[in-house]
Amino acid sequence: MTAKILDGRATAAAILDRVREDVTAFAAAHGRVPVLATVLVGDDPASHTYVRMKAARCAAAGMRSRRLELDASLSTTELVARIRELSADPAVDGILLQHPVPAHLDERAAFEAIDPAKDVDGVTRTSFARTAFGEGGFTSATPGGILALLDAYDLSVAGKHAVVVGRSPILGRPVGMLLLARDATVTTCHSRTEDLDAHVARADVVIAAAGRPALIRGAWIKPGAIVVDAGYAGNTGDVEHPAAADRAAYLTPVPGGVGPMTIATLLRQTVEAAIRHESTR
Ligand code: NAP
Repeated sequence: MTAKILDGRATAAAILDRVREDVTAFAAAHGRVPVLATVLVGDDPASHTYVRMKAARCAAAGMRSRRLELDASLSTTELVARIRELSADPAVDGILLQHPVPAHLDERAAFEAIDPAKDVDGVTRTSFARTAFGEGGFTSATPGGILALLDAYDLSVAGKHAVVVGRSPILGRPVGMLLLARDATVTTCHSRTEDLDAHVARADVVIAAAGRPALIRGAWIKPGAIVVDAGYAGNTGDVEHPAAADRAAYLTPVPGGVGPMTIATLLRQTVEAAIRHESTR
């Protein structure tokens, strides 16, 4: 079998076309465009690249981004204060804190300084809880992007066995909750899981989200499975490509799979935040 490629780039472009239309309608109604504030701490080159890409997509969709670049030496208290200022600023609709932040900072405290109404990256406890209870709100951007990609290809997970490899609060756990809400039977694996290969081999749907290049061997994949590779380390995913393509029915490429879907979800949620923001003024 040669897997059909789940094209995140093309799917994200289609979503961003709709976002652009929504931005045009929003601007006509409210005389302004949605504003996304991005917060970058320190000088990690990869983080700079991600923030630049997000700002460029924002501009292409007709939105404004406001960039806050902070010195790596700042304290958690200072970072929290700067994010609270953005939360209180009526000119800002959405806030993205690029993560990971430098190790001396309390990332969770910084996330929690984001007003849940502006949490377009879906990182706060409030957004996590709303996802867990199926109450809408903003989903964590990468899990939301993964589900949107499956939807674009009409791939139902209902009744299927989904194995998620990774349990981080921004990726593994929320993607598991979203799959459960779609009636998948979900197994979550992590660094202490025994016999990872046996779990993956039973999966109709694999979500690889460990950040360990080529951890998931092609030979483990159940023939006909849907394989989503969210891992990203220097253009290498968590799945052994192309060996996995010989067994899977559907596979996301790296790059060009989950990454563009994450940004599309972030921007879609920014327009949604702006619309809600205007409705509460
Ligand atoms: P993270 O916070 O470091 O979490 C990694 C998870 O993988 C942890 O739960 C860890 O288990 C698990 N893990 C590590 N080694 C493992 C192993 N050998 N076997 C099984 N599980 C293992 O990372 P993250 O933020 O969730 O990101 C995961 C990956 O997704 C990274 O490559 C990241 O770059 C990528 N990512 C991509 C996008 C995108 O837009 N494309 C967005 C976000 C993240 P423990 O909990 O036991 O430590």
